Amino acid sequence: KEVTNINALADEYIRLSYHGLRAKDKSFNAAIDTQFELTLPAIEVVPQDLGRVFLNLFNNAFYSVNEKKKQLGEVFTPKVTVTTENVIEEGRRASIRITVFDNGLGIPKAVLEKIYQPFFTTKPTGQGTGLGLSMSYDIITKIHGGALKVETIEGEYAKFIITIPNRS
Ligand code: ADP
Ligand code: MG
Repeated sequence: KEVTNINALADEYIRLSYHGLRAKDKSFNAAIDTQFELTLPAIEVVPQDLGRVFLNLFNNAFYSVNEKKKQLGEVFTPKVTVTTENVIEEGRRASIRITVFDNGLGIPKAVLEKIYQPFFTTKPTGQGTGLGLSMSYDIITKIHGGALKVETIEGEYAKFIITIPNRS
């Protein structure tokens, strides 16, 4: 683990994800809203691993808003919001919370039960391995002692919430 600036890491992977999707689909675009806590403390993480989590969550978010755009056309404005914050819950240690919100297709109940299963994907062959969220879950919970949660309304939005305890 290394003491890491989470805002800088998130920013790097938002760009990587966005440009990766643009390279495959020239018509792709989305508004990206970053609400970073500027005084976020640096925390000890495995940057390459957390980077893979970010990349997967951002790829999923951009993919979902892009699919919704294909369905709804110009009336729909794709938006992905990434926030970071320092949270101190009563009686607990400080944590860092990172949320990735997209106003895309959301996740139906029957799908929601399976999203963390390895190889589960709803994407067409060649578009997804179904390993992103299972890997992300393990990286956050096992390697960082944190939590990965999701809130969603089908057709409206998906919001993934990472919490990582600050051990310092
Ligand atoms: P993959 O991206 O390769 O499909 P993941 O493990 O990253 O695999 O995600 C598994 C499934 O969870 C996706 O195929 C999709 O059905 C659902 N999912 C994940 N993130 C989102 C999201 N932001 N919006 C809607 N569905 C999502
Ligand atoms: Mg994925």
